[in-house]
Amino acid sequence: MTQHLAILPGDGIGPEIIEQTVRILDRLIADGLDADYQYAPLGGAAYDEYGHPYPEFTQKLCRSADAVLLGAVGGPQYDQLDRPLRPERGLLAIRKDLNLFANFRPAILFPELANASTLKPEVVSGLNILIVRELTGDIYFGEPRGIHTNAQGEREGVNTMRYAESEIRRIGKIAYEAAQKRNKKLCSVDKANVLETTEMWRQIITAMNSDYPDVELTHMYVDNAAMQLVKAPKQFDVMVTGNIFGDILSDEASMLTGSIGMLPSASLNETGKGLYEPSHGSAPDIAGQNKANPLATILSLAMLLRYSLSNEDAAQRVEQAVGKVLAQGLRTGDIYEDGCTLVSCSGMGDAVLAAL
Ligand code: NAD
Repeated sequence: MTQHLAILPGDGIGPEIIEQTVRILDRLIADGLDADYQYAPLGGAAYDEYGHPYPEFTQKLCRSADAVLLGAVGGPQYDQLDRPLRPERGLLAIRKDLNLFANFRPAILFPELANASTLKPEVVSGLNILIVRELTGDIYFGEPRGIHTNAQGEREGVNTMRYAESEIRRIGKIAYEAAQKRNKKLCSVDKANVLETTEMWRQIITAMNSDYPDVELTHMYVDNAAMQLVKAPKQFDVMVTGNIFGDILSDEASMLTGSIGMLPSASLNETGKGLYEPSHGSAPDIAGQNKANPLATILSLAMLLRYSLSNEDAAQRVEQAVGKVLAQGLRTGDIYEDGCTLVSCSGMGDAVLAAL
C-alpha cells in the first residue's frame, strides 16, 4: 500500500535542506519505495500564504498523511507578529493536533566527526544513543500549578509531577519497540528513590519487560544518568524517561556530538505516525546562501523510513550513504575541519545521492 508523506519545507534554510532531502526520497521511490508526497506550508511561509502558521490546508494534509517531514520554521521578519500567529506556534499546533507524545532524539556521532565534540574523541567516536522522551505529561502539564500567597503571607510557586499509568505504558511501549529495532538495551531513567511518581514509573516499565523479553532493561537515577552521559556515553542504547528529565538529558546528549547540523529528531503518536525534523532551527543567518548542512534533515528522513514506514533497509541505506560521504572528507561549513573538502548544501545533496 502506498504510504503518503506530507512535506513542510518551512522557513529560512528549511526549503534548501528539504530540497536536498527530497532528491534522496525521489531516488528511493525510483528504486521501489512505495510512497508519494505532497507539500504544504508551515510557520512563516504559511502565515505569508494563508495568514496562519498552521492553516487548514496543512492540517488536512498532515492528518491524512502516514508521516510528516519538516524543514524548520521561524525568522526575524515574523518576530513582531502577535504570539498566536508566530511561526513557532505552527510547530506547537501540529504537535498537539497529531497527539505526538513521544519524542525521539538520537545522539549519533559519526567517527569522522569525533573532533567536533568537546569530549575526548575516544569517549564519543561512534556514539549512537536514542533518547525517548515523554512529551505531553509530567510536571510541565500537571495540576495544580501556579504562584499564590500561602497562609503565612509568603509567595509560593507550585508545580505538580503527575503521570497516569496509561501515559507511562504508551511511552514504555514505544521505547521497548525502538530498542527492539536497535541493540535491544533499554535504560529507564527516573528518581524513584525520592519521587513517588517515578517510583510508579519504574514499577510499570519493569512489569512491561515480560512483554519484551528480548530487551535488556536497566534503571538509572537521573542524576547518575546525567553524569554517565558525559563519562561513558557509549554504554547506552535507548534511554526512556519523562518529560522534564528527558528535556535536560536530550539536550545534554545532543551536545556530545558537537554538531547541530547533524542531528535528526522525531515525534510520534500512538499509531506510529510521526513528525520528523532536524533538531536545529531555520538558521536565518545563512538562509538562501546554499551553505546549510542538509544532513540532519536527510537523517530525519532515515528515521521516518525506520519508525513510520517500518523500512529498515531503506533507513540504513540512507544512513550508510551519509557515513560514506563523511568518510570521503566532504563537509559543509558548520562541520568543516582542515584537510576536508568544503561543499555547499546542494553539493552535499549531490554527494549523498551519488553515495546512495
Ligand atoms: P538555529 O538552530 O536556527 O541556528 C543556530 C546556529 O546554528 C546558527 O548560527 C545557524 O547558522 C547554525 N545552524 C543551524 N542549523 C544549521 C545547518 N543545518 N547548517 C549549518 N548551520 C546551521 O537556532 P536560532 O538561531 O536560535 O533560531 C533561528 C530561528 O529558528 C528562530 O526563529 C527560532 O525560533 C527558530 N527555531 C526553529 C526550530 C524548529 O523549527 N524546530 C527549532 C529551533 C529554533
